[in-house]
Amino acid sequence: MDNQKHEILERYFGYRSFRIGQEDVVDALLSGRDALAIMPTGAGKSLCYQIPALMMDGVTLVISPLISLMKDQVNALTTQGVKAAYLNRSLTDAQYDKALYNMAQGMYKIVYVAPERLTSRRFVRVCQALHISLIAVDEAHCVSQWGQDFRPSYLNILAFIEKLPKRPTIGAFTATATAEVKRDIISILRLNDPFKITTGFDRPNLFFSVIRPSSKSIELLRLVRERSGKSGIIYCSTRKRVEEVCQHLCSKGYLATRYHAGLEDEERRKNQEDFVYDRKRIMVATNAFGMGIDKSDVRFVIHYNMPKNLESYYQEAGRAGRDGEDADCILMFGQKDIETAQYFIDSIEPNPELTDEQNKAFKQKEQERLSHMIAYCKTRGCLRVYMLRYFGDTTPEHLLMCDKEVIEV
Ligand code: ADP
Ligand code: MG
Repeated sequence: MDNQKHEILERYFGYRSFRIGQEDVVDALLSGRDALAIMPTGAGKSLCYQIPALMMDGVTLVISPLISLMKDQVNALTTQGVKAAYLNRSLTDAQYDKALYNMAQGMYKIVYVAPERLTSRRFVRVCQALHISLIAVDEAHCVSQWGQDFRPSYLNILAFIEKLPKRPTIGAFTATATAEVKRDIISILRLNDPFKITTGFDRPNLFFSVIRPSSKSIELLRLVRERSGKSGIIYCSTRKRVEEVCQHLCSKGYLATRYHAGLEDEERRKNQEDFVYDRKRIMVATNAFGMGIDKSDVRFVIHYNMPKNLESYYQEAGRAGRDGEDADCILMFGQKDIETAQYFIDSIEPNPELTDEQNKAFKQKEQERLSHMIAYCKTRGCLRVYMLRYFGDTTPEHLLMCDKEVIEV
């Protein structure tokens, strides 16, 4: 079996060796044990369930909330000769019917499915008649209301599993999980004595800094000038700011483009491609940009505004340096950012699917997360240590390469 695992890794994915943690998770799932894998973005969680999927009898369902990512992964698998499909609302009715029909015929080894599908009677009936050996719950933090993006539809997963004639092995995957979220994942999905693994969150090739410039726009020009010709992302907290910053950079002759939810699909797609294919070097965007973007040579990520919490910050900043080469993650911080972040929290609408109590607790949690974000901006200590401790990474300090301290400009 050991051989087969490595053979699949090389034949289907083109890699010679597993990365840290991957093989342990693969082994656990193959032995029929549930698993909870917490690995940072880019660590390679997908392989942890794709390899067992190819080695087990029957079908693997991958539950994921990220529609665009499903398509990419299925395309990549199909190219490698793996029979895979996805079921989500991006399909037309006819396409959906066809995929479901094929699935029922046992044509697919791996099926990606949006959590909303799990309550569809037709989908459930097809699944009941199939042998489902593994369910991979991607972005598993979505089951927890403590997580930063709670998805009520994730709460349907357990009921779905209980409708299956035989309980499959379950693997849960996420990049961010505090102790509470971990507990929630295990209890809400009823993982059975899961194999738990948290791999290092440290990204040694990323250099973190926080600056407090008196003029952000002047400072930004200085930062991009120092990095001209390199690819970078500039995150802003609002669409309006994205427009301003992008226009400002373009007027100074930089090849910049923009991305936010207010643009037409067509333009978003085009701008994203321009950036990925290096026709534009700088992407100015809101947090709507980045999920599922596989651009490995991003050399800097600048936050023009402070994000609402460290989970978001680390995820966005972590899009730099995926190729392992050095990259900079720079956060521009000002008093105004605190006010804006506070305003966002104050205007959170209660979620009608939660009780008053739960809504209150959620708001409190957001408040707490914001205070950590602010503390990160203000700390005089090592930023890397602050962040890793926040994520529960216990790597001893002397093994971590400290970042520059906070610079007042
Ligand atoms: P995650 O879901 O943890 O964010 P992905 O599964 O999307 O990460 O993988 C991130 C990148 O790492 C992908 O480009 C993937 O092909 C690559 N990758 C995964 N495993 C390995 C490996 N063992 N060796 C080399 N590259 C890998
Ligand atoms: Mg992933």
